[in-house]
Order: sequence, then structure tokens, then C-alpha cells
Amino acid sequence: GLAPSCEGVLLSGGSMANITGALTARHLRGEGVIYLTDQTHASIKRGLVAMGQSAHAIRVLQSDAHYRLSPEALRASITGDLTRGLQPLMVVATAGTTNTGAVDDLPAIADICAEYGIWFHVDGAYGGPAALCERGRAVMPGLDRADSFVVDPHKWLFQPYDIACLFVREPGALEQTFAMYPEYLADVTGSAVDMHNRSLELT
Ligand SMILES: *Cc1c(COP(=O)(O)O)cnc(C)c1O
Repeated sequence: GLAPSCEGVLLSGGSMANITGALTARHLRGEGVIYLTDQTHASIKRGLVAMGQSAHAIRVLQSDAHYRLSPEALRASITGDLTRGLQPLMVVATAGTTNTGAVDDLPAIADICAEYGIWFHVDGAYGGPAALCERGRAVMPGLDRADSFVVDPHKWLFQPYDIACLFVREPGALEQTFAMYPEYLADVTGSAVDMHNRSLELT
């Protein structure tokens, strides 16, 4: 159900794929606050810090009684930041948390992101493959609204290490963020997609 405009790249794992999504969001939209919960995969906060995201621009929201991102808490945090003159950049929702399998309320979060012009990222590293079947799709509506989405075939799809997929809705966004054209790669630039221009990975 992802937007047909989505483009993607394969990465070594969910950790790298989520951060590649965050780097893309920041490159396109500029610096801003990134919203997580206490149930967001730990690799994301670690990656954000590694990519130079200030600790002051990372919000770790308390999850609700069902370990989900609370849309009310999210909205309160966003409006608080706006009042203080801070720019919201990206919300990280999870479709299948690693601790409990909780799926965030993606439609409600997508609505808030649309309202404030915030990048909507969904981490489906572990739970995303559920969307391949009717029953799974029914528990994670709103995936189709993601600006970026991550799924790890080396988890529930039982593929070998290391494979993660990052999908980004905006065509050309990955190339805008990562493309480079040094002399020694000139002879491999052609009509095919150059995957080395879609992330920090090269060979
Ligand atoms: C496993 C997992 C990750 C990290 O993926 P790796 O492939 O181990 O780097 C990120 N998010 C979620 C929800 C996960 O379950």
C-alpha cells in the first residue's frame, strides 16, 4: 500500500535503514526536532546522536498504557516546541515494537504530521511484513501514508543477514541526499539505478 512514487535502497539492517531515512528527512527539510517514544528501537536514538542530532532536538515521549505513541502526547510536544520557536522535523512511529509488538496509531500520527508538515517515518523493521497479508494489514492501517518506511527481510521474512529495505515516498530524495560523482565512478554511471547514490554505502 505504499505510494507508487516510493523509491528504495537496500541497507545492512534496520539500524542503518532508519538512520538513512532520518538523514534524508533532515537533508530535505533542514534541522529540527525528532520525536520518538520509550518503545522506539534503541538503535534509532543511537543513530540520531551519531548523525549529529542534538540531544536537545530529540524527544522521547512516554508511551501509553498499550506501549503505543500517544497522539495527544505527540501533539502537546509539537505545540510546545513550536511555542518555543523550535521546528519539528520528523516523527518516528513503529509498526510492531520489538518489546511487545505494539503498532502505533499510524492514521492519527499521519494526520498530525500532515497538519504540521512533519516527516512521517514508520519503523516496520520487525513487524512490517505483516502488511503482506489481509489480517496483518488490518492491524496497521496508515502505512501507505509514510514518507519513509523500513522493513527488515532478515527478520520475519527469514532472509540471511544483512538486508533492510528503506522506502522513501518523494522521488529523487535519496539521490538528492546521497549522490556523489567522483572520477573513479564515472564509468559505472548509466541508465540503471545507482544504488551507491542512495545511501552512505558504496560497494
Ligand atoms: C531489529 C529492529 C531494528 C534494528 O534492525 P537491525 O537490522 O538489527 O539493525 C530497528 N527497529 C526495529 C523495530 C527492530 O525490531
